[in-house]
Parts: sequence; C-alpha cells; structure tokens
Amino acid sequence: MTNRPLQPLIDQNRAWSEARRQEDPEFFSRLVSQQEPEYLWIGCADSRVPANEIVGLMPGELFVHRNVANVVVQTDLNCLSVLQYAVEVLKVKHILVVGHYGCGGVQAALERRKLGLIDNWLRHVQSVADKHQEHLNEIEDDKDRVDRLCELNVIEQVVNVCKTTVVENAWASGQQLTVNGWTYRLNNGLVRDLQISVDDSSSLTTSHEGAVSRLHQRPVTR
Ligand SMILES: [Zn+2]
Repeated sequence: MTNRPLQPLIDQNRAWSEARRQEDPEFFSRLVSQQEPEYLWIGCADSRVPANEIVGLMPGELFVHRNVANVVVQTDLNCLSVLQYAVEVLKVKHILVVGHYGCGGVQAALERRKLGLIDNWLRHVQSVADKHQEHLNEIEDDKDRVDRLCELNVIEQVVNVCKTTVVENAWASGQQLTVNGWTYRLNNGLVRDLQISVDDSSSLTTSHEGAVSRLHQRPVTR
C-alpha cells in the first residue's frame, strides 16, 4: 500500500465542504457566481497569521495577498496585479496592510542575517530600518526593537501602496478607497490599528508623519 501523507488533508477538506453545505446549502453556488470582497489584505506569508480567520470573514469576503514580511514594492508585478484587480475590478473599499509582531522576515532584516536569495527581498525592510535607525537604536530590548520595526514596516508599506499608480488613479477618479495599517500579535490573536488610514493623496504625508510620531511616543507593548 502506498503511503499517502496528504490523505488527512483531503479528508478534512471533505468534512469542511460537507459542514459548510449543511450550514448553508447555497454557500458554494453563491460563491461560484461572484465574489464581492470589500477588503484587500496584504499580509505576511507566516502560517500563524491566517487572514480570514483573524477578522472573522468567510470565503468571498476578503481578497488576499501574502508575501514574506508584507512588503509592497512598485516593481513587484505579482503584488501590483493583485492590487489592480482588487481596486479596479472588485472595487474593494479598504486595503489592509497587516504586519505581525515577532515577524521572522523583519527580524532577519534587522539583524542583517545572510540567508541567500531572500536577502534581496528583505533589503526593502532594511531600508525601512535605515530610515528609522535613530529611533530603533534607542530601544534597548532586542524583541521590542524587532516589534517596533514590524510596526514601522507596516507604516512604510502603507505609503508604498498609496504611491502605486493603481491607488493614485483610483483616488484621481473619485473612487472611495482607504489604505490602512495594522499589526497582529501572535500571543493573543489581537490586531492593533496603527492609526494610519489614508483616503486621498493629499493627506498621505500628514497621515504618515502622524502615525510615526505616535509610535515614537509609546513604548512597544507585549
Ligand atoms: Zn512574518
């Protein structure tokens, strides 16, 4: 008999599908006909940060893009394509950039660890660390410093989202769209709003400065 290590997943899928249909017989047929998510989640690929579950949303309610350390770069066609589809076709109303405390990618970037190919990707997070080096140097505890960079990284990635042509064009055409920054804490499952919610180009600079200065005023909490 062949070893089938994935069989438990197939079995769990059968059970999940059955439970969904028992709860709501029209569930899958409704999803097939359309998806109307109001939110785009841009988060870390970390397996401990399951986007839908964290915010209690069902399939069809959250459009999701995840990569290591929730980085948004204007040359990343993958992320930009997700962004374009979400904004122009699905017309999401909110974009959530969600980092998480204790992020391994952010920690590796801060410690300038040499891990291979991924160093090139984490270079973007190192740029965030460089930009805020003075503030980060004032934090004595190593874990707190990583967590603060997790927060700063979210704020800077929010700015990057806002500066994409996709979001700029949406705002220029009067489309209602807000870009928000959150962090997620693994040890209690809670989201923190970093109080950066940008809904037009003209308020980007003040929103960014406000969010950074609020961070500077409060210690990292666990
Ligand atoms: Zn992470």
